[in-house]
Amino acid sequence: MRKSVGIIGGGAAGMTAALSAAKQGAKVTVFEGNDRLGKKILSTGNGKCNLGNMDLGPGKYYTRNPELLQRYLEKFGTENTISFFRELGLIVKQKNGYLYPVSEQASSVLDVLRFAIDRQAGNIQVMLQTRIERLECDKRNNRIRLWSDKQIESFDRVILTCGGKAAPKTGSDGMGYKLAGMLGHSLVPVVPALVQLKCREEWFKSISGVRAEAEISFQEEKQRVTERGELQLTEYGISGIPVFQISRRINYILRSQKEVEVKIDFLPDFPQDGFSEKMILERTPLIAKGVTVEEYFAGLLNKKLMNLFIRLAGLKPSDPVCTIPAERLMKVYESCRNLTVYVTGSNSFDSAQVCAGGIPLTEITENLESKLIPGIFFAGELLDVDGRCGGYNLQWAWCSGYLAGMAAGK
Ligand SMILES: Cc1cc2nc3c(=O)[nH]c(=O)nc-3n(C[C@H](O)[C@H](O)[C@H](O)COP(=O)(O)OP(=O)(O)OC[C@H]3O[C@@H](n4cnc5c(N)ncnc54)[C@H](O)[C@@H]3O)c2cc1C
Repeated sequence: MRKSVGIIGGGAAGMTAALSAAKQGAKVTVFEGNDRLGKKILSTGNGKCNLGNMDLGPGKYYTRNPELLQRYLEKFGTENTISFFRELGLIVKQKNGYLYPVSEQASSVLDVLRFAIDRQAGNIQVMLQTRIERLECDKRNNRIRLWSDKQIESFDRVILTCGGKAAPKTGSDGMGYKLAGMLGHSLVPVVPALVQLKCREEWFKSISGVRAEAEISFQEEKQRVTERGELQLTEYGISGIPVFQISRRINYILRSQKEVEVKIDFLPDFPQDGFSEKMILERTPLIAKGVTVEEYFAGLLNKKLMNLFIRLAGLKPSDPVCTIPAERLMKVYESCRNLTVYVTGSNSFDSAQVCAGGIPLTEITENLESKLIPGIFFAGELLDVDGRCGGYNLQWAWCSGYLAGMAAGK
């Protein structure tokens, strides 16, 4: 007997699950709330779709249960992603270990998935604009019933691939958490991840638009967390890849405290020890030339930043530097190396690339099947797994979608 498999959510994980379940001989129906499949894929990687990474491992992910995550990544890793897409006709290239379609168009990734699903029309039915609102287990008949506003369907197995609630415009609005809750599953608290951070300081408006290579750090319990990369300064706070990387950890800390102290080093290539003293010595000849504070600090950092640091030290750019005590100049140098900002929150789920938290891995089996309700499977962002920037979130969607589809379709 062919198994009937219902898939709730036609995103990256859902489409992969549909293809692997059909490969197992199952009769698959994908329910997608949007009027098209895979809408979110189109916005990934700035339209280029960073679909994986050569450097894969549980260390690239956050989850409450890294040891459980490992077993899925071992079964479906980067090489599997590359061959999965090669079989669909997509040529994947890598740039510094980051995987992209050779066309550098996210639409190519979506196209090959869509076309593969279309080719399986006899085995995979796609129900667009069909949002599943409720599901229920008929234990006597071993069936799972799904309700949308349009119809009632029942299946041998159901895979939940509804995503989280990041970028809800693309369709993932948190409904998956509710559906899982109806089945008795718990939820690791969900916060926005890979998102911009808001800071308390008013002066951010004056440096909005500046981009600078920097190292940012903060204290997480006993550990100092550090990230480096291009920092983007906005009128409300900080953005850019290093900020995205720390955002989920900061958001969890902010659940129990009002703000988090973050340090920024705008000259991370220079040794920290004795930096200010060394700069004072090195730049002393300029003082004899009768320069202003602005001239004295010119050429060190972006002008907008430098002018801010001058103001924060209580100086004016037009002050003659010879009238300024060395401690004041030191203060400016210290801002360059050790600027303190206080993060008070992040942008909302609307701006987040992913959600941290979700259905705990402890509640699913090695086959991604619910331990509470056999016949229900989970995959993708809905689970308590979120990756760093670099293709890890899509890798998780392909990996978990593929494995859940294979198991559910058997
Ligand atoms: C701007 C942006 C850029 C990104 N860039 C990258 C990148 O370059 N690399 C990377 O690895 N990751 C990236 N990500 C993250 C990545 O896109 C997601 O982690 C991944 O798409 C999650 O896949 P998913 O299938 O689990 O969920 P989704 O892609 O969110 O798909 C879930 C689907 O389920 C549907 N759905 C939800 N509820 C229901 C319901 N009740 N009934 C029917 N349908 C429902 C939704 O409409 C949606 O289509 C990015 C995300 C964003 C927002």
